[in-house]
Amino acid sequence: MKAVVLFSGGLDSTVLTYHLLHENAELKLLSIDYGQRHQKELSASTQIAVSLGLPHTILKLPMLAELLGGSALTDTSISLPEGHYAEESMKATVVPNRNMILLSLAAGHAISLQFNTVAYAAHAGDHTIYPDCRPEFADALDRTLKLADWSEITLHRPFVKWSKEDLVRRGKELAVPFEKTWSCYAGGEFHCGKCGTCVERKEAFELVGLLDPTEYKE
Ligand SMILES: [Zn+2]
Repeated sequence: MKAVVLFSGGLDSTVLTYHLLHENAELKLLSIDYGQRHQKELSASTQIAVSLGLPHTILKLPMLAELLGGSALTDTSISLPEGHYAEESMKATVVPNRNMILLSLAAGHAISLQFNTVAYAAHAGDHTIYPDCRPEFADALDRTLKLADWSEITLHRPFVKWSKEDLVRRGKELAVPFEKTWSCYAGGEFHCGKCGTCVERKEAFELVGLLDPTEYKE
């Protein structure tokens, strides 16, 4: 498999990268600055890519945020919800059609590299809040990408039915440096420990019974 990985520098896409390397895939990492609130994930993505010696591009498209408002991740006038990641309030963190836009760019890049795969780390914990992480979305986009070029591109989504806990467990097996990954939506010096993704991250380590190496604000 030769895959472009949609790589945010977060826990999920980092575990995905290690998982694919374990399967001897040839990888190109792609991170996209879509005007998100902070740059912490992007700097984490660089660190991890360098440590793995993998080719990595950060595509700078911060003006996308002007088109994709209405989300707490792209519009700083909307406050970030705190609490459990499955709560209705977390829908404020949905960026309109984000995955279709980002995966589409990744697919174009894969075609230009003559790669056969685009990979993303959607998992089952995302489904309640993020419509573009549902298996149905991934299946439909996979069919579409197969028609986007004369050579077929596959959308690889090996974690689409996995829980966050499964991801942490797999990351542990693969010795993923979790401490280098960045999940928090808030983007301070340390993880806030209160936003949806921090809560999900903490909970997953607890469920696996693994010491969480993340530094939280309190
Ligand atoms: Zn947080």
